[in-house]
Order: sequence, then structure tokens, then C-alpha cells
Amino acid sequence: MAVKTDRGEPSEKSPSGRLPIFFWSALSETKEEFVSIKDGEVGMYDCGPTVYNYVHIGNLRSYVFADTLRRLLEWNGYRVKQVINITDVGHLTSDADIGADKLEEGARRENKSVKDIVAMYTQAFFDDIESINIPREKIIFPKATEHINEQIALIEKLFENGHAYKISDGVYFDISTFLDYGRLGGVKQTLEKNADTNSRIEVNPEKHHPSDFALWKFSKPEDRREQEWPSPWGVGFPGWHIECSAMSMKYLGETFDIHTGGIDHIPIHHNNEIAQSEAATGKPFVHFWLHNAFVSLISGEKMAKSSENFIRLRELIERGINPLAFRYWLLTAHYRSQIEFSFEALEAAENAYKKLVRSIALINLKNSEESESKEYSERPFEDKFKAQFAKIINNDLNTPESIAFIWQILKSSNESGANVLSGIAQIDEVLGLGLMANAELLVKNIAAVPEDIKKKAEKREAARKINDWTTADLLRKEVENAGFIIEDSAEGPILMPN
Ligand code: AMP
Ligand code: ZN
Repeated sequence: MAVKTDRGEPSEKSPSGRLPIFFWSALSETKEEFVSIKDGEVGMYDCGPTVYNYVHIGNLRSYVFADTLRRLLEWNGYRVKQVINITDVGHLTSDADIGADKLEEGARRENKSVKDIVAMYTQAFFDDIESINIPREKIIFPKATEHINEQIALIEKLFENGHAYKISDGVYFDISTFLDYGRLGGVKQTLEKNADTNSRIEVNPEKHHPSDFALWKFSKPEDRREQEWPSPWGVGFPGWHIECSAMSMKYLGETFDIHTGGIDHIPIHHNNEIAQSEAATGKPFVHFWLHNAFVSLISGEKMAKSSENFIRLRELIERGINPLAFRYWLLTAHYRSQIEFSFEALEAAENAYKKLVRSIALINLKNSEESESKEYSERPFEDKFKAQFAKIINNDLNTPESIAFIWQILKSSNESGANVLSGIAQIDEVLGLGLMANAELLVKNIAAVPEDIKKKAEKREAARKINDWTTADLLRKEVENAGFIIEDSAEGPILMPN
């Protein structure tokens, strides 16, 4: 298990030569130093989308969080194996194991086959994550329906170990056989207190305990399910929780380093994953549980697929917001703090992001005009910088402070352009904002501004020099209407595409 410390912030190098990393652990509810199971390697599983609808920007927060986490670990020298599951069966509309399968329901709603909606929404999910710099090729995306045998094998193990029982509508996990049930998020303490409430909403009197959960559900003939499989207990489909245990252990081993998801998964889904995995293997399932807080609406309400109150990334793009400005917006909040959505907030992020890219492009321009010897940053700066940045980002993935750090570096007048650029490039590696790439693109575009626009800007500058503000303003407007802006810098005005 991880070494527990109460320092809560990175200090010296660990014996492996790596800088220490601290994460808030949902298991211990303290900040702990991260120690990987295998030196230099990390296995990470992130609960993925249920593909019965488009993902919304709240869901995307959990993948940006996981992606930034992987980047942080890579920046610290770890090799990361990352898995995000695709739920294409068995996620029911109610956490109490009743209600319809969201996938079957989605197919009916759209008058399509389950296969078709799975293909369509999985592709839409991939398109979304690619546009926010989450590299698909670095991640394994297993589908639940392609791992039915693994799920059945796990349930068989639970039967062997005396943790499962069969009733008329399916196979269930008996939580009374797992002493530590509800360890995550203090659910254990509230379970007994809530037994009364649970039993009031409970509709299946055959269950031994209200919180027992389905491992396998039998198909009912009237449901006319498209997706069902034979099993030793009857034809049906797996429960939602078992897929995450089966697939995470298949790809990452029986005990692995990090498991993430949104905070809504703590009370039920993740406690169930722990119970069924540990009951089957007798080993600790996961060392570090990390959860992102919600994207909420101004009313405080959670953005949710099921309540149709959600905003898609596409809507932001249609409003002229760069997907990476959306990522920037997400990272201005710490992952454990709720963030409130509004178009105004996104527009402000768009402006800040643009400004950042422009500032970097200006340094780039200036730097390339300076002498060759200044092209590369100096070693002492790199070491000092790395230590400074690690103190920020290795402290439970502090992205808001990292963004503030970028602005601070940009303002620091005593560093060379090359040093500033190398510092920002390192931060950008972790934040994944595409700052350097976009700044380079902007530099190219600056060089390609059409001659007539350049002429207008020169005329405007001449008018300014003789205090002819009316003409200067008029020309500036014309330049802007053509899609360009004039950025005033220490080296004089610079013309660039807006
Ligand atoms: P789902 O497709 O509903 O299973 O959710 C996929 C992931 O998004 C899970 O990790 C959820 O916890 C997370 N999630 C759902 N709604 C939100 C939200 N409004 N804000 C942040 N994360 C969310
Ligand atoms: Zn899961």
C-alpha cells in the first residue's frame, strides 16, 4: 500500500530518483504519497461512458481529469497503462438494479438497433475526446459485451467463495459476506442507518439485504432484449458493476494502482467494484481511488445525461469556443471542486486561452529573432523550473495553480525567451492544452497575413503617430472586420489572425 504521510506536499526526491507525488485518496480520506506497485509503471482504470447517448461536458470533465493524471505520471517518468471501458450493456436506469437497460431503451427511443447506437455514440465519444487532446492511441477501450466470458468467470468465482446467490430475477452479491462493504466514502457507517430508507424504496423482497446488488440479470421474455447471453444460471446479461471489475483486472491485474470516476460513483458503483473484486481474489483491488467533482448548472443541479439538461462539446464549438479553451476552463478548477457551467464562463476561458497563445507566439517571434545561442534553454533553469512546477502539480494535480504559474512565467522579465518557452512547454505537456502547437501555428499565420491588411495596419500606425485617432480607429476596425487584430507589444504592433 501507499506510504502515508501527513506532509501533504512534495519535497525531496524519493529513493527511486523521482519527485514525490501526492494524491487525495478516497480510501483513507487523506493526502497520501503515491507509490506505484511496480517501479516506474502505473496501471490506471477510469470508468467510461455508457454509450446510449452523447457524452456531455460533465462526463468530459472526468476524462480530461484522467488524461491530465496520466500526463502528470508520464511527466514524472512513469509508464502508464490506461484503460477506459465502454459500457454497451447492463447499465440500468436505477441504481437499485431495477428499471430498463439504458442501451436497450436508447435503441428503442431512436428506432435503431443497440449495435447501431453503440457504434454511433462510441464514435461521437472518440471524436469529442480527440478534439480536447485526449490521445486515443494511448488508451485501451474495452467493451463490456466483448468481455462476457470474463464477467461470467468472475461471478462463478464469487459463487465458489460463497458471496453470490440466485433468486428469481438474477444472481446477486451478498454484501453481508464481505465484512468491509462500503469502505469508500464512509458508506459503511451510513448503510445501517439507511437500511430503513433503502428498504422503503426496495422492490425486490427476495434480496437478502437491500444493498445486495445484481451480478447477472435474467432476461424477461416481455423485454425482448436484443443483447443477451447464456450463463450457468440462465439467459440474461451482466450487471453494470461486474464489467468494471472484470475488465480492469483483465488488463491491469488483480491489484492495480489507480481507479478514477466521478464522485457519483463512490457510494454504490465503486463500493460494489471493491466488494466483488476483493471477494473473488482475496487481494486488495486498488491502491488509489480518485474522483472528480461535477460540472453543475448555475442552479447547482448536476449536469446529467438522464435529465436531458446537458450541454455537449459540439454546442460549445458551434458558439465559437475552441475545444481546448473548454479544457482550459475545466483545468482552472481543481478536479475535486465543483465547477459551474455558463456560456459567459466559457467565453471568458476562450479569451484567456487566446491571449495565452498570443503571448507565447509573441515570445516565439522575438526569440527566433534573437541570436542562435539563445535558442536552447539553459540547464540550471530547467532543473530549477522542474522542481518549482513539481511542487505545484505533484500536489494532488493542482491545475489551477499550474495555470497561474504559466501566466507568472510569461510576466517574468528576467528569464530569456528560450527559458520561458521551455518552461511553458513542460507545463503544457501535463495540462494538454496544445499551447505550444497553437502558438507555432499562429506564428506561421502571422507571417502569412495578406499584404493589403499589412498596409492598413501600417497606415493606422502612421495615423497614430500624428495623433489622428479617428483615422487610426477606422483602420483598426477595417483590419478587425477582415478577421485580424493588432496586438501592441514591446516591439511595436503585431498583426495576427483573430
Ligand atoms: P456515465 O456515462 O453516466 O456512466 O458517466 C461517465 C463518467 O462521467 C462517470 O465517471 C461519471 O461519474 C461522470 N459524470 C457524470 N456526470 C457528471 C457531471 N455532471 N460532472 C462531472 N462528471 C460527471
Ligand atoms: Zn465503472
